Formats: sequence, C-alpha cells, structure tokens
Amino acid sequence: MKPDSQSPILVEVLPLGGFDHALTYGAKPSIFAYLKVGSLVRVPLGLRRITGVVSSLSPQHSPPKDKLRFISALVQPEPVLNTELVRLAKWVASYYACSLENTLGAMIPASVRDGMEPKTRRMIQVIKLPAKDVSSLFKGSPKQAKAYALLKEMDDEVIDVVQWGKKEKFSSTVIEGLIKKGLVKQTFSEIHREAYADEFSQSTPSLVESIPSLTHEQKLARDQIASDLQSEKFNTRLLQGVTGSGKTEVYCQAMETVLKDGGGVLFLVPEVALAPQTVDRLRARFGRKGEEVVVWHSHLSAGERLDAWRKLARGHARIVVGARSAVFAPVQNLRLVVVDEEHEPAYKQEDSPRYQGRDVAVYRAYLNAATCLLGSATPSLETTLNVEKGKYAKSVLSQRIDGRELPLVHLVDMRREAIKQRNTPILSQSLIEALRHRYENKEQSILFLNRRGFNTTLFCTECGEVEQCRDCSIAMTYHRTDHYLHCHLCGYRKPAPRICGNCQSLEIRKKGHGTQRIEDVVESIMPKNARIVRVDADVMIKKNLFREILSDFRQGKIDVLVGTQMIAKGLDFPRVTLVGVIDADLPLRMEDFRASERAFQILVQVAGRAGRGDRAGEVYIQTYAPHESCIQFARRTELEAFLEEELEMRKELYYPPYSHLIRHVFKGRGEEKTRFYAEQWRKQLDNAQLAGVTIKGPAATPLAKLKGYYRFHLFYLSASVTRCLSQIQKVREEFPIDKEVIDFLDVDAQQVS
Ligand code: ADP
Ligand code: ZN
Ligand code: ZN
Repeated sequence: MKPDSQSPILVEVLPLGGFDHALTYGAKPSIFAYLKVGSLVRVPLGLRRITGVVSSLSPQHSPPKDKLRFISALVQPEPVLNTELVRLAKWVASYYACSLENTLGAMIPASVRDGMEPKTRRMIQVIKLPAKDVSSLFKGSPKQAKAYALLKEMDDEVIDVVQWGKKEKFSSTVIEGLIKKGLVKQTFSEIHREAYADEFSQSTPSLVESIPSLTHEQKLARDQIASDLQSEKFNTRLLQGVTGSGKTEVYCQAMETVLKDGGGVLFLVPEVALAPQTVDRLRARFGRKGEEVVVWHSHLSAGERLDAWRKLARGHARIVVGARSAVFAPVQNLRLVVVDEEHEPAYKQEDSPRYQGRDVAVYRAYLNAATCLLGSATPSLETTLNVEKGKYAKSVLSQRIDGRELPLVHLVDMRREAIKQRNTPILSQSLIEALRHRYENKEQSILFLNRRGFNTTLFCTECGEVEQCRDCSIAMTYHRTDHYLHCHLCGYRKPAPRICGNCQSLEIRKKGHGTQRIEDVVESIMPKNARIVRVDADVMIKKNLFREILSDFRQGKIDVLVGTQMIAKGLDFPRVTLVGVIDADLPLRMEDFRASERAFQILVQVAGRAGRGDRAGEVYIQTYAPHESCIQFARRTELEAFLEEELEMRKELYYPPYSHLIRHVFKGRGEEKTRFYAEQWRKQLDNAQLAGVTIKGPAATPLAKLKGYYRFHLFYLSASVTRCLSQIQKVREEFPIDKEVIDFLDVDAQQVS
C-alpha cells in the first residue's frame, strides 16, 4: 500500500503470543519504508507489547480509524522469514496439525524474536585537527588533552575503547568527552560467537591438504548428483553407502558445485553434538576457501544462535550444519539439502510442532526447486519405498574405501551362556576374553548397549521368545499392578503367562541392564589399570563433557568406552578393533512395530565402528534371539534382503511406509476421566465412519503415567495425512472435552510410548 496523506498505511502482522491469526496495524512512513513480508516488529496488543511477523503489506481487513494501533518498532533490520519460509511454515502447521504460532516459534530463534542485539565492541578512531583549533576545547580538562595527544600518535588506527582506556588509565568519561567534542569517531564492530571452534576440534591436517581421488562408485554418484543440480528442478536422491564408503566425500563434491554457482547448502545430521567430526571435516574443507560453516543446534547459547542466524540471513555464510531445527535456518538461495543418516529417529521432533526433519527438508528442497540428498547405510523403509516407487533416485556406494573388509561378526547365543554360567550374565565368556586381549594389545574397545527399554516386556531366556499381540505383532508390556500383558497399540490384554508359550520353560524375565551396571561389570573383569569410561544421557547434559571424552578416546587415553546409541553414530576411531553389543535384541522387546528396523540399523551401524583404521575389527553380538531374521541379516549386512522382508511385513499389516501413522494422545491428571474421554472419542469416530482410515485403540501408553499425567492414545492409519486429518479435525470440533483433559495429534509418529 502506498503512503498517502489521507489514510494511514496498513500492514498485516501475525503476533507471536497467544494469537493464531493475523491483525492489522498502522505503520508510520519512517518504519514502513523498511518493512518487508517476514519483518519482525513490535506491536501493542492489549496492555502488552509483543513481537509479531509481518505477513502481508496489503491487508484484507482495515479496522476503524479510532481503533487502529501502530507498529511501535522494527526489531531486526532484516526480515526474519522470507516468502519461502512463510510457505514452509504454513505447510508444517497444516501437515503436522500444529498451530502456526508454534511453528513460527520453532523457526525463529528466541534471541532473534526478542530482538537481542549482537555482541559488539566499541571502537574509536581519532579525528585529527590542527593543534590551535583544539587547544581551546581542552580548557579545564587536561586529561582529555593528554588522551587526544596519545590518540593522535596512533594515526588512523581503530582501537577498542575498553582495552585502550584500561591500558592508558583513562576513565570512560574522558573518552566520552572527546566523542562529544567531535575529536574521535565512534564505531561498533560485531563480535562473532562461533560454536565448536575450540580445542576439541580435530581438524586433521591431512584432511585439509588432500582431497582424495574418487573411487569409481563415488564418481558415478557425483556425476548423477551434478546432473540433478544442473536440472534446477526439485529432486531427491538416496545415497546408499555402507559405513566408510565415502558418502561424506560425495556430499562435499556436491557442495562444491553448489557453492561455485553461488548457492546455499543445508546439511542436516541427526544430532550435532554427536557429529563433531563431520563439522570439523566440513570446516577443514570449506573454511580454507573462505567459506564459513555455521553450526546450528539446540545447545547453542542465545548469542551463538543469533550470530549464526544473522550470518545466514545476510548471506555472509552459505553453509549451515545442524540438527533437525536447522531445517528452518535462513540459508539464502538454497540449492542443496543433505540429510545424513536419514533413517535416524532423532529427526522427529517429539514436542509441538511435531515435525519430521527429514521430510521437512525434502519439502523445503521442493519449495526451492533444489536437490535433496538423503544418505544412509541403512535407509529407512519410508525412503526405500519412495525409491521403489520412483519418487526418489538412488546412488549406491557398495564398497568401503580401500576395499577394507567389514569386521568379522560373531553371534553369541546368550541362551547357552545362561545355562553355562547358571544365571543371566551381562558379558559372555568370549566377549570377556576378547576385551582382555585387546587391552593387552593396547587396542581399544567399545561396548554398546541399546537404549534402555521400559524393561517391562517378558521374554524367555531359554528360547528368546517375546510375548506379542495377536493383532499388532508388537511386544506386549507387562504391568506389575495387575500381572497382565497389554498391547499398547490396540489395547488388547491378557494375563501374563508363567511359562514360555514356545518352549514351556519357566525362565521368563523382565529385566534389562543399565549402563552403570555394565560399567561395574567391565571394571570387575578388566585389569586394574584399564581405563573405562561410560557415556550415557547424564554425560550428554553437560555441554562439553561428551566431546572431551571423545577427544580422550581418540587420543588413546581410554581403553573401553561403554555407552548407548550415542556412541554408535558416525564416529571414526582408527584404533578401535573390538565392538561388543551387550543385548542385541532389546529393541525387539519394545512395544514398537519398528523394532526390527531399529535393531537392524543399530547393529549395522555399531559393527561399522570396528576396524576403521589399518587393523581388522571384530564384533561380538550377544543375543537371546540369534534366529531372528533382522539379527541374521545385520550380521551379514544383507541390507536388500532385510528391506524386502520388512517391507512385506509392513504391507501385510498396513503399517508405515504403506500408510501414514497418526497418533492421537489424550492426557490428564485424572486417570478415569482421561480414559473416559478417549473411549468416548473412539465411539464418536466409529459413528462418523471415516473414509480410508484404520483406527486402533484407545490404549494406555507404555509409560502410562508421565510427569503426573495419565495418557491414552489412539492410532490412525491412512494413505493420506491430509484426508485423514481433515476428517478427524471435523469430528473433533464437535466433540467437547473437559478442560482438564488435553489432546494432541502426532503426525507420522515415531514414538509410540
Ligand atoms: P561414510 O560417510 O560413508 O561413512 P566417509 O566419507 O567418512 O564414509 O569416508 C571414510 C573415510 O574414507 C574417511 O576417512 C575419508 O576421508 C576417506 N575417503 C573417502 N573417500 C576417499 C577416497 N576416494 N580415497 C581415499 N579415501 C577416501
Ligand atoms: Zn521359551
Ligand atoms: Zn495390539
């Protein structure tokens, strides 16, 4: 709208605070001149002053003149969103059934929203004037005269006020005086806070110096990607490559092509704290060319994030590496999106907005007509099916670099071990011997424990049988309170058996082991001087502890590293020659239809940790279910065979990727009330007769009570998220719920707990 002396200029603003629709405000010409779609402004709302995003410069709605309120300030000089990101936000909000406000909250870092100022240093520079002109100015202020004389000697140098004042012992009033009199010029220079540019960085010089000549397969992949990029159309490609096959090198080649053409790159990793090596490699590779690599993840301080955000928004940096939230980073002219380890569940956000970072990445590439690369050694079934359907292209790296062998994998049958040792041991005899042997040879070992389950499923230590739901093919959960087994997908329950249904044994167990217990056992079997370190969730909370541990481990200061899946990811330790998997089938005992997929992925990934250097590696997989096909496939790294079998199973049961899974959670402080509404809701749905939606539940969640809330959930399986949601939301509008019960939807749910 054109400024006009008669009527005020109107602008549409989306307030970021308790309002989910746009409001119209007036804008003074002096502010309007700087406004764009996506500008962050401060506006009055009731008695408060809040921030909002300009969503249109030509609003539909104009309030009466006497009610019109005005934008009070522009918070950031550059818009916080561009048209592309506004479209992305709208898509995320509608696809993942969350509010636009929540989505914008996730997209715009808090420090940017709050209008935090960049950290600056105050600098001064002398303005030289002839002595006769200034002498009169210094009457009664000899200190100013002295300071000016000193500054004049420094010529045109721009100096830091605080440092200089301290060194020369001038108070700030003296300098202020000089500024007021126009004898020195004051400027501000931004200080950039850079994440991970510290002593734990491991930029190996060899990485900086030599770019390897590519293998045949790498070249092929590089050329295929180059032609994807050249098409300047949206496309997605799976880069399927075993661990150590040089996927990162292929990403780098694609990045170089893009940067040469002035494009921007978004590089996603499942968890940045776990990918310092990738960050270091990218920095070593591109930093040398003056390209700054911005790191983006949830552990950044507000200031670090603000700086990262600004550099990208202004186009000063063109590469961002980050965890899922980086998918919203304001990279300019985005040409390439890389999603490394695309199968990782960590890409799913478990709080609102509950988006799947990988899928948003693909959509963002689509909005930019860019290329999306999904990399994995063990691609997800979703991606595999998309390749099969021809939606995604595929490049394969089947060989490890230098033809290095995959490690030798031993399956240790823990059922036999249990009989031999007359209890359920944590470590098998063969793994103990292997650990001691490595220590003697001054080689390193990793002991890996799968994520602790809820430890409440029943399994037979003699035959490995796990009690499963007859309808859902997932492990049932044991409830102490009533001694029943419950299915947490459909709600089916039955009394817990006392004997194994498969082999009639009485050896039915409920317990798993934590990392602490394993650390104790390892300490007890290893020589006194062996250095054993444990990595678990507690370690991850402390900002740099994990990176310190990794650094120590790489330097050989640790003999045995014990940990959960955080040590399975993307780590490259040349001196590790032994990997032990404590309990390979734990995921199979969890209440999740993705259990086999997880077990397979984790085993392949962990095995890839052994023998990355010159020495051959060995892997011991302890299992109560050596016959399980996912374990057999993992042992032989038979990816295609595994995918084929698993896809068949999913198809039969109409699970993802053949359908979309939407989870609907009801939670409340009162158990009965919450259950009541979940059950009433199901009745409502049955009456409504939804088209193309399979409904399961309600059932209590595996963790029935979480943070004081009882939780019940339903699952909707449907071919189309949009069609399913629109039907559900319509029924929901006519279903009143007590305000003590909260419900939310989780689209493409990963977590079923
Ligand atoms: P992935 O990402 O598939 O696990 P990486 O990219 O980490 O594999 O490669 C494994 C190792 O091989 C790295 O140390 C990397 O520098 C090296 N590498 C990659 N490509 C080549 C090549 N063409 N020639 C020699 N070394 C290579
Ligand atoms: Zn049995
Ligand atoms: Zn069931």
